[in-house]
Amino acid sequence: MKRSQGDDVRQKTKTWIKGGQIIDGTGKPAFKADVLLAEERIDKVGDLGPADIEAAEVLDATGKFVMPGLIDSHCHISFDEPRTNDELFFHRRYGLAALVASVNAQKVLRAGVTAFFDADCIFDVGVDLRDAVEAGVVEGPRMTTGGNVLINCVGGTASRLLPDRGRLGYGMIVHTRDEVITEIHKQIKAGVDWIKVHVSGLPVRPGASSGEIQTWSLDELKLVCDTAHQLGVPVVGHCRNASSVRDAARAGFDMILHATYMDEDALTAVVDRKVPLVPTFTFQANLADYGSAIGADPQLQAVFKEEITASADQLKQAHQAGVPILTGSESGFSLTPYGDWHYRELNLLQTYLGLTPLEAIRAGTEFGAIALRKEGELGALKAGYLADLLILADDPLKDLDQLGRRNFIDTVIKAGRVVDRSLPLPSTWQIPGWRMSAFSDDILTRSLAETHLGPL
Ligand SMILES: [Zn+2]
Repeated sequence: MKRSQGDDVRQKTKTWIKGGQIIDGTGKPAFKADVLLAEERIDKVGDLGPADIEAAEVLDATGKFVMPGLIDSHCHISFDEPRTNDELFFHRRYGLAALVASVNAQKVLRAGVTAFFDADCIFDVGVDLRDAVEAGVVEGPRMTTGGNVLINCVGGTASRLLPDRGRLGYGMIVHTRDEVITEIHKQIKAGVDWIKVHVSGLPVRPGASSGEIQTWSLDELKLVCDTAHQLGVPVVGHCRNASSVRDAARAGFDMILHATYMDEDALTAVVDRKVPLVPTFTFQANLADYGSAIGADPQLQAVFKEEITASADQLKQAHQAGVPILTGSESGFSLTPYGDWHYRELNLLQTYLGLTPLEAIRAGTEFGAIALRKEGELGALKAGYLADLLILADDPLKDLDQLGRRNFIDTVIKAGRVVDRSLPLPSTWQIPGWRMSAFSDDILTRSLAETHLGPL
């Protein structure tokens, strides 16, 4: 057969990142090396020969630092920063949610997050966005995604706002074993990467104990794992009290979000099985530390802070026992807007769990590959790995919060290509019916009016 011109062996697209200090994401101290990217992968890290650099595009990283792209292992890309569950449950439209998510995904990518785990989504937006990004229809980070979270209506993250049955917002209410199996099969058919379960939820009558209440039995959790695992899909749990963490770990969950308020039994179950944990302190810390900027109630700020301080010690012990700790920001709510706070978890893990800066970077890179289901090919700066990386203006180890500073991230590279961050994205939008609208912040009693205006 005659060869046409197009059949000629094409020169691979090569990029030579020259002279940077490498932080490879594995916890190894920084070292100086050149990096060669070929197409979407890292070809070499180390000394390069003349053949390597021939026809390569050069990115001069002299005096700069190079590290893997950040991986955020707990986001909600389809929510669009709601202030309340009411807004999220009753004010969102399917098509528009997907369109808006495609812009928010770009904000995440431009912040240096080259991959993230969308823990659960409204409608099927997570799956659709992931497929659109993979197909090159829209630009965004790599993604794995859950579907609607499996939730028991007794306790949930939205209490009595949840219906007794059916689907609402990010949740699918399931009660019986048949409902659990059917929903898992449906979600796997739809293409989810993870099955997510709300193992704990808000107490029906608050105040009795710290944290949430466990709403699933151990047997039910085992059923979830058996059903999903049989089809090769891992299971992740939202667990915000001791028994929910313990039983999720015992049932065979593959990852646990929050894992707060652990007791001895919960810690033992997690350590025995080395279940990866995503503490996700950013959400609480944002309200506790910066809540005054949005008029947050000081009492609520204290409650959020308490969840961190009450959980830090056990999470620290899990880390010291070799449990992988991953960074998650819970981006997608009004307290955690897209693109702004993803970096913050690294510093919080250093502050509260005692991770070294290199360990914190590993939590946000190499270990993130667990959530992305790409262990061994994502999250580290090594030959053969996917070429997602950042070039930084200075040494991030001096202060991890620098990763959030404007212009500190010099260049974002995903799949071997520099992400164009030059065209500004819209920062806010007004869409009819999209946000909650209130008549007022307060109730206009006569006495309130008189306090402000004098006797009426
Ligand atoms: Zn979440």
